Amino acid sequence: RYQSLAYSRVLEIHKQHLSPVPTAYFPTPLLLSQGHMEWLFDYEGNRYLDFFSGIVTVSVGHCHPKVNAAAQKQIGRLWHTSTVFFHPPIHEYAEKLSALLPEPLKVIFLVNSGSEANDLAMLMARAHSNNTDIISFRGAYHGCSPYTLGLTNVGLFKMELPSGMGCQSTMCPDVFRGPWGGSHCRDSPVQTTRKCSCAPGCCQAKDQYIEQFKDTLSTSVAKSIAGFFAEPIQGVNGVVQYPKGFLTEAFELVRERGGVCIADEVQTGFGRLGSHFWGFQTHDVLPDIVTMAKGIGNGFPMAAVVTTPEIAKSLARRLHHFNTFGGNPMACAIGSAVLEVIKEENLQENSQEVGTYMLLKFAKLRDEFEIVGDVRGKGLMVGIEMVKDKASRQPLPCEEVNQIHQDCKYMGLLIGRGGIFSQTFRIAPSMCITKPEVDFAVEVFRSALIQHMERRAK
Ligand code: PMP
Repeated sequence: RYQSLAYSRVLEIHKQHLSPVPTAYFPTPLLLSQGHMEWLFDYEGNRYLDFFSGIVTVSVGHCHPKVNAAAQKQIGRLWHTSTVFFHPPIHEYAEKLSALLPEPLKVIFLVNSGSEANDLAMLMARAHSNNTDIISFRGAYHGCSPYTLGLTNVGLFKMELPSGMGCQSTMCPDVFRGPWGGSHCRDSPVQTTRKCSCAPGCCQAKDQYIEQFKDTLSTSVAKSIAGFFAEPIQGVNGVVQYPKGFLTEAFELVRERGGVCIADEVQTGFGRLGSHFWGFQTHDVLPDIVTMAKGIGNGFPMAAVVTTPEIAKSLARRLHHFNTFGGNPMACAIGSAVLEVIKEENLQENSQEVGTYMLLKFAKLRDEFEIVGDVRGKGLMVGIEMVKDKASRQPLPCEEVNQIHQDCKYMGLLIGRGGIFSQTFRIAPSMCITKPEVDFAVEVFRSALIQHMERRAK
């Protein structure tokens, strides 16, 4: 436990010298001092079970000993070279990462953040296709740079100035909140209670959403397009899952128009979804470009774009892509250690087993509480969508969601938020989480809901 500055002084400095955009989750911001695996400690020594892992970023655990040791070894050897000189950590890393991707996704570009990775993927799509228009889903978050702001379709992050020209949004195929139900359409152990009229295996909801996608293609973009971005499961939008088979058909439609398909694996990659290492594999599609960040470095700033040799050549013909810090020795040593830990500690299998256990436990709360509208997700990426009541599906007012959120914190559980109305709790712990910790988290969440219902009844 350490305290370098008094809490009140931290608040003053924050107000005076840091971005005025309110990013802190709680009215009394949490001031942390230390982290260990799935636990965080605040400046007063209180401990919290971290079920959001720094926004789905700390993939293998805070300050994981093996990752720390790799960082310490590299920091004493060489921090920086820039790409004009070679250093083995980047080659070791490139070999390890590419081995985890199917053919022909074998060429890696290393950058420093998810926004940068998606910026680069946009350039690649345009350079390769010779087209401009790019499509992404409403509700998608793909970054906050001027280029990627065009792909990000969450009102909170939009700006009233032109950005990301040539980007068009299309309807998100959300079987809970969208216009068509889909009670057996998503790849999750828990299906939505919104019934659909079709039988398993014939998803009319998917067909309806594909019609919407075709509508976007024939009305909002040019005949030939550059590409289509999709997260395998939307993170910021509140763990939104699409009907099975949607991406397969959408990818075909995009390719018919000359575009490339980009999977944004910033939140879903590296085994988090349990059944597969990459989210796109859960949809049985093969993208042309895959972008990754967050969990790739367990919290160390690093990101990557992986593509085919052809697309990489198309970019190289048109752009001398350069990045001072991308692929620096520290990032590569850390990235390698993260991949080793995922394998050695069977963390993908843990995501599958503990994640499914957790989903089924949270799903029981949907039966118990009228304000729990939907519980969904896969592996260790779970969304709990809060509603006023199940019939209307109106989002639970933000102040009420805030209160439940804070109550969880008081009881030692940190969870995330998402959704256009901030109505969805997002749960994505480090992949080292255990079943007893899940039991604790579910009990805390349940107690917060009980407290809330009691407050409401008064
Ligand atoms: N893509 C997705 C799916 C994300 O969730 C995020 C970050 N929330 C980004 C891209 C952008 O990543 P970064 O904040 O590292 O720029």
